[in-house]
Amino acid sequence: MSRFISKKYENLEPHTTEEHIHQKKTIRLNTNESPYPASSFVYRSIDQFEIDNLRLYSDPEAGKLIKSISENFGVNENQIAVGNGSDEILAFAFMAFQNENKKFYFPEVSYESYSVYSDVFGINKKEIPLAPDLKINPEDYFNLDGTIVIANPNTPTGLALTACEIEEILRTNRNNLVIIDEAYVDFGGESCVPLVEKFDNLLVIQTFSKSRNLAGARVGFAIANDEIIADLNRIKFSFNPYNISRLSIIAGTAAMKDKDYFKKCINEIKRTRERFSKEMQSLGFTVLESKANFVFVRNDSIQGEDYGKALQDKNIWVKHYPDSLIKDYVRITIGTAEQMDIFIKTTKDILGIEEPSEN
Ligand SMILES: *Cc1c(COP(=O)(O)O)cnc(C)c1O
Repeated sequence: MSRFISKKYENLEPHTTEEHIHQKKTIRLNTNESPYPASSFVYRSIDQFEIDNLRLYSDPEAGKLIKSISENFGVNENQIAVGNGSDEILAFAFMAFQNENKKFYFPEVSYESYSVYSDVFGINKKEIPLAPDLKINPEDYFNLDGTIVIANPNTPTGLALTACEIEEILRTNRNNLVIIDEAYVDFGGESCVPLVEKFDNLLVIQTFSKSRNLAGARVGFAIANDEIIADLNRIKFSFNPYNISRLSIIAGTAAMKDKDYFKKCINEIKRTRERFSKEMQSLGFTVLESKANFVFVRNDSIQGEDYGKALQDKNIWVKHYPDSLIKDYVRITIGTAEQMDIFIKTTKDILGIEEPSEN
């Protein structure tokens, strides 16, 4: 730290990002990226002409991208805002909707950024414990007195609330903004996008990083009523009007249009998740019922941290959380079927379970 750092940020604890060593043989199941490449539409849309155009600024309105999202979800263009990843949209939301004395409520175990952004913006955060079974109890969010942020499905548990349960939270918080982070909703959750018409206190955030295979392009979006979207854009145009690069606007637009490939990838991941979950259960693991592209597992015969380290020694990366409530678990991203086969085999090795002989 230099002596110039703002007093405000001396104690800031940044979001811990994952190591990004790109060794071919490493199987990365720690950041919930897609194991599949971008849609062929993306490959075809970025050509010499677009590279030539990189000397020009990107469209600050990201018009093409917004249009593709609008057509896909059947919402008006003025009900959509886009950001450099959904992380940026979340940051804009925390910035735009902070208010002196107004608290931000979110689950104690959830996406780390909620806590980090609260600290960056000096927001009074209130973390609400999960139920003992690691579910979010919707009633804990009824009739609060501040902004509510919920990842649905939640991470790292993969557990989801139903749209009805969220509707109840919206109904009992008419004067509070409710932000639903749907980074994983496409893998089996119920989206709240249809509720935007009914609730002017709802802000839904989604991303191209997980279900649309474009984590490296950094594209996220928000859907809400036009006034909330205008507030987000007020921040965006004050902060970084060209926040999405030309190539990312093109990539996102193309990916959004390829609905068949999107469905194909999702279905493959769901299929692999179900098969993998069963296999892990047969090895003695408790597997939470995931609606996401990852599973959260524990096994009484090995501590979470030890299991994570043993996997890492064999070049498989998963995520372990030291927090006491969930320290017995590891979070495993669903990769390709082949990767998960290697995973199972490696886990049997670690646990000392014999493979049945082939003959
Ligand atoms: C991955 C993730 C994000 C961030 O996604 P980007 O669009 O890549 O910034 C947001 N929220 C949750 C819950 C996530 O897991």
